[in-house]
Amino acid sequence: MNPFTLVRLPTLDAARERVSAEPQRRTFRAGGIDLLDRMKEGLDAPDELIELHAIAGEHGARMRGIAATEDGGWRIGALVTLGQLAGYDDLPPAYGAIKDAAGNAATPSIRNGATVGGNLLQRPRCWYFRHSDLLCLKKGGYECLAVSGDNRFNAILGGGPSFIVHPSSLGSAVVALDAKVTIAGESGLRTIPADQLFAPPTVDPTREHTLAPGEVLVSVDLPPALPGQRSAYHFAKEKQSQDWPLAEASVRCTVEGGVIQDLRVALGHVAPIPWRSKEAEDVLEGAAPSAEVFAKAAQAALSVAEPLEGNAYKVPLAQGVLRYALHFATSTPLPA
Ligand SMILES: Cc1cc2nc3c(=O)[nH]c(=O)nc-3n(C[C@H](O)[C@H](O)[C@H](O)COP(=O)(O)OP(=O)(O)OC[C@H]3O[C@@H](n4cnc5c(N)ncnc54)[C@H](O)[C@@H]3O)c2cc1C
Repeated sequence: MNPFTLVRLPTLDAARERVSAEPQRRTFRAGGIDLLDRMKEGLDAPDELIELHAIAGEHGARMRGIAATEDGGWRIGALVTLGQLAGYDDLPPAYGAIKDAAGNAATPSIRNGATVGGNLLQRPRCWYFRHSDLLCLKKGGYECLAVSGDNRFNAILGGGPSFIVHPSSLGSAVVALDAKVTIAGESGLRTIPADQLFAPPTVDPTREHTLAPGEVLVSVDLPPALPGQRSAYHFAKEKQSQDWPLAEASVRCTVEGGVIQDLRVALGHVAPIPWRSKEAEDVLEGAAPSAEVFAKAAQAALSVAEPLEGNAYKVPLAQGVLRYALHFATSTPLPA
């Protein structure tokens, strides 16, 4: 690991300008869990880490807090830890998907340091990308080494030219909850739909997000809950702790007059971006909740899957995970 200097600047602008001036040498540190891993693995070698926790004043408070907003929504600061979010009892159950995603990620000790912003912006875990001796497509090489290699953990949906899966457990939840994210850039703060934060590999296989160098993710902004809004998150992992999921699903909906409405379905760890499934939403919108409808929706969601040689098992796995999430979101009893 290269030597580095930890730089503590008290304002968001100073931090942002410092990184923007030399993004090859400088980067932001939040919890540091992914960043320091990458530095230890020799993937990145910044010589200055700009400590986001040092930002004070109004911006610092916004980045560290969870608060109800004037429009009836909620704002979660980018420096809130996954542990704080998971344990935040005042967040209404309508937003349960994001709390459950935070509370099931990684381990308790990691959740105490890992931040919401860092979680959304962490780099992929694909072992070809993480291996410092291998030059895969994400690092400027010519091909995605997972295609002809061991691809058991790679994408089954939306892959190509890179087949990484997006590593953030919060990703599917923010997309299903129709969240926005606020970003600080050269011309001040701007707010965009959360799904526009994520960039598919067809745009640029070397990046997973749309932030310009030096831009800071300030907060995740949850819209006002719809009347009767429910949400749920579910996942499957090889190990129950110390591991990333193999498949995840987040669902937001309302159930009015016995039918499901206002559906948003997003799958995680199956595609290079958190994957919104319009196919599942089309089956579910206006249908009465039942195990049969959920099975049909799960089948539709994965009907567009294109598994690689070693990861076809993820198709039924993701279907099962989505079916569970739909049962939980609609409070429909699980089949015996
Ligand atoms: C054993 C293990 C299991 C794990 N399991 C899971 C899991 O199940 N699900 C899951 O989602 N994750 C999992 N993780 C990953 C972990 O959750 C992430 O590494 C962590 O959330 C990253 O957050 P951080 O605050 O430490 O980010 P950092 O490492 O500080 O930052 C990550 C990246 O984002 C940039 N960055 C951070 N914050 C901002 C910001 N506000 N604005 C602009 N740029 C920013 C940094 O420059 C860096 O490039 C696991 C990790 C380990 C070690």
